[in-house]
Amino acid sequence: MDNNSLYRQIPKVDDLLHFFDSQQYKRDILKFCINKILAAVREDIARGDLRHIDKHQLIEQIQQYYSKFLKGTLEKVINATGIVLHTNLGRAPLPEDILKNISDIITGYSNLEYDLKKGSRGDRYHHLSEYLEFLTGAESAVILNNNAAAVFLILNTFAKDRECIVSRGELVEIGGSFRIPEVMANSGAFLKEVGTTNKTKIFDYENAISDKTVMIMKVHKSNYVIKGFTEEPSLAEITQRAKKMGLLSYYDLGSGIMTERYYTFCGEKSVKEIVASGFDLISFSGDKLLGGAQAGIVLGKKHLIDKLKKNQLMRMLRVDKITLAVLQEILRMYVMGNERDIAAIDLLNKDSTLLEKKAEKLKKVMESKVPQSKIEVEDVITYTGGGSCPMREIRSKAIVVKAVGKNISVVENNLRRYRIPVICRVSEDKLYFDVRTIFERQFHELAEGVNWALKAS
Ligand SMILES: *Cc1c(COP(=O)(O)O)cnc(C)c1O
Repeated sequence: MDNNSLYRQIPKVDDLLHFFDSQQYKRDILKFCINKILAAVREDIARGDLRHIDKHQLIEQIQQYYSKFLKGTLEKVINATGIVLHTNLGRAPLPEDILKNISDIITGYSNLEYDLKKGSRGDRYHHLSEYLEFLTGAESAVILNNNAAAVFLILNTFAKDRECIVSRGELVEIGGSFRIPEVMANSGAFLKEVGTTNKTKIFDYENAISDKTVMIMKVHKSNYVIKGFTEEPSLAEITQRAKKMGLLSYYDLGSGIMTERYYTFCGEKSVKEIVASGFDLISFSGDKLLGGAQAGIVLGKKHLIDKLKKNQLMRMLRVDKITLAVLQEILRMYVMGNERDIAAIDLLNKDSTLLEKKAEKLKKVMESKVPQSKIEVEDVITYTGGGSCPMREIRSKAIVVKAVGKNISVVENNLRRYRIPVICRVSEDKLYFDVRTIFERQFHELAEGVNWALKAS
């Protein structure tokens, strides 16, 4: 059949509308969905991918489109990768009952930007300052949309049309096109690179200082390591040299650690230690290892933080009330010493005994729902993810399912199409479900999904 006669066979929108119950389907939404499906049909014909038109199949596609449309495209998934701070899967999961505590604030009115003492306009940025002071010893704080915004605002406020010195070993790119040299160029600051990829010495910084220099910036090597013949000055050397030369020192930390529970596998300094080493400004994410909502937390000397707040760009980069409310809860957990209640910290700290137990439990559920496959528990290696603790291997446990007689990539693809999409790892002809990031409340759903994915074509 030629394309023209195929096009003529495409049913009219009104014709298709008759097949849907007007009680069950809202007409305007239905029309929208029909048009989407028909447009796809026309494209398929043009590409030569469609040889005949089946009205019943079309109606089914429209039904599916309708229910998917109402479900929305942002949906929960099961993270079976073992990567707790998975950048593509929403980084840090929040504690389950956090919404209960903040719902009064976000569903009603709050003093977000209202000074209750004076009865006049207040400042939204100070709300978390005291908690942050308590936890880190920093003099003052301001919260922005994300850490990328923090880097941008700091450079724009203090180094616009001036020079900022960064080591060549730290000119990082973080996932999703955040590159230090480009952010710096956009902020109006001039980058002065010093040292080499593997070695930067304190005199490299010192030799680079000109009368245009205003800042030494250190950037955390969040997603890579430099191994072998390497050298960099200590934090104190950098801050002391900056002070001596009358320059600002700033550390873009990426991830903020406020608990000792990370030391065992991460070996990174806490925010408190970084503050104590004397940096004038520090910035890090509100999620990542901190375990809260995405935000950019800036700590520093009061007069510098005040200057940031006065930058016009602040209006574009300011944090909203939902994020602030979430962060207030998270920081309070740290203040109270309840950081085990923070989901990301809990998941990252699960030891092998706990993981073993969890794996055995999931294995049992899997065996009952997926009787046709051999299910095993294996030791695996995972990572924290989210640009933190790079290359630090974390031991974990996975449920391994062998897909006998099936194309493994078809099964993996099916899992992503499941009612609750499942993201897992595949190696050779086996599926790996790392139990570290699978919540117990998801065990049954996951097992049903695996069973379905093995059967579906
Ligand atoms: C993650 C990261 C950023 C960006 O933080 P976002 O919260 O994703 O905006 C910037 N700098 C470093 C060093 C990072 O690790």
